[in-house]
Formats: sequence, C-alpha cells, structure tokens
Amino acid sequence: MLRRTTIFLSVLLVSLSAANAQTKLSTRWEELTAADFRQGVQQSKATCLLPFGILEKHGPHLPLGTDLLNVRYAALHAADQEYAVVFPEYYFGQIFEAKHEPGTVAYSSELQLKMLQETTDEMARNGCKKIIIVNGHGGNESLIPYFAQSLLNKPHDYVVYAVMGERSREGGPGKKSTGIDYHAGENETSNTMVSHPDLVHLERARQESGADQKRQNLPDFVYTGIWWYARFPDHYSGDGSVATKELGQWNMDGWIASIVESIRAVKNDDVSLKLQNEFYEKSKHPLETKP
Ligand SMILES: [Zn+2]
Repeated sequence: MLRRTTIFLSVLLVSLSAANAQTKLSTRWEELTAADFRQGVQQSKATCLLPFGILEKHGPHLPLGTDLLNVRYAALHAADQEYAVVFPEYYFGQIFEAKHEPGTVAYSSELQLKMLQETTDEMARNGCKKIIIVNGHGGNESLIPYFAQSLLNKPHDYVVYAVMGERSREGGPGKKSTGIDYHAGENETSNTMVSHPDLVHLERARQESGADQKRQNLPDFVYTGIWWYARFPDHYSGDGSVATKELGQWNMDGWIASIVESIRAVKNDDVSLKLQNEFYEKSKHPLETKP
C-alpha cells in the first residue's frame, strides 16, 4: 500500500512539473507555438514589447549591436517580472550619421517608417493592441515619437507607447569619468559588461578618443544634421576604459524597473484607445465638433 502510494505520488509530481513547464510561457515571440502565442497574448493583456536597437560602431571596444543587445537584455528581464510578449530582434532605425563607419546598416527614412508601421500593424493584427516600443538607440529619439504621432493620421485599433527613457540614473556607484558620456562611454560600456561581458574589449577602449571635438561654432538652439559627426566623428563619446560591472548593474536595474513600471501602467491603461477612437471619429467631421 505504502509502495503504491509512493508510486502514485511520484507520478503525480512528474505530471505536475510537466504541467508547470507547459504553463510557464516564454516571453519571446519566436519561441512560442501558435497555440502558446494565443495564450501569451491573453496573459499579457494584449501588451507586447518591441525592443528597438541598431547596428552601428560603438567606439573601438564594443560590438556593433550594442544597442540591440542591451535593449533586449533589459526588455526580456522586464518581461520576466511582468509578463509581456517580446517581438524578435528589430534594428531598422535611424543611423545615417554612422554610414562612414564599418558595419553600419542604415535603411532609408521611407523604409524605417514603413517597417515600423507594418510591424506594429502585424503585431496588432495578432492581438497586441498595446505595443510598447522600448528604445535602445539615441538616433531613434526623433523617429519613434514622430511615428507614434503619425498614427493619428488615420484610425488604428491599437495604441503605441514609447519608453524613450534614460539608461543611466542618479545615485549608485560613483562615476570615474567626468565629461560627456553619450556613446560607448563609461555608462554604456558598463551596461554591456552586464548584458554581454564576453563582447566587451575593455583593453581597446583607449585606442581612440571619445572626447567632444566641438568642430561647429553655433548656438545650442540651432540644429544641423551633421552635429553628431562634428562632435564625435569616431562614434565614441566618453571614456569606456573606466567602466565597471557595478555601475552597469545599477543602470540595468533602473532601466529594467522602468520597463516593468511601463508594462504595468500600460496594462491598466483603458483611456488611450478610447481617446484615440473619439479623436478619429471627430476628425472625420471637424466642423461639427464643439468648440
Ligand atoms: Zn549605443
């Protein structure tokens, strides 16, 4: 009897753990079966992440895909804490300013917008009615809000949210570098030491200078497309050689927490889509809308 109970219990445990393995859904779109995808979208309350990276030079010591690798690391860790379906690798952004460097992939502006439009349309057609674009690349900071705003042009049955946020924050381990730290410098190198330590070549970080070359003489409020090249022609801004894993962990924890907070807020947001629909309806007959 005792033996039979033991056998029964172990069978029960095995089937319970199998059931557990089945219910623990991957957050990665490409890893889900079609049936599990349906369940994933339900579990995420129609909230999906689109981590947005790029392929461009990152100083003499970081990989071309730094932004893509780091934004995916942060987004996937956030989705582990607050479930959301995460779209596969996406790097079709704005990066004309690095076309003179090896390994840059710079799609035309038309294609950037078309890819983004068709990607969010396809995500929404598959049930992702709340799409959070998580930006990992500074050169996308005009593109993404412009895209989000252009969705007002005609009706869409989904909302695009954008987490543009900073990847560094106040407090934490003291920084060793004092100057500007925009690209492949202390912060970004530290972050990559956390996400992909094997791809950081710290010993090469001083082979080039990440100093601001200040080659333009214009007031701050005058913009030119060549500003980045004028200041940082080698796609290096800051000093990556002083990076530490501790600073990277601090930055990454903050970034992940802000994505988790965004996913939770978006899941609870029942206002944006209603307002969009109201807006689309009114925009069909502007003369009849009340003042
Ligand atoms: Zn970067």
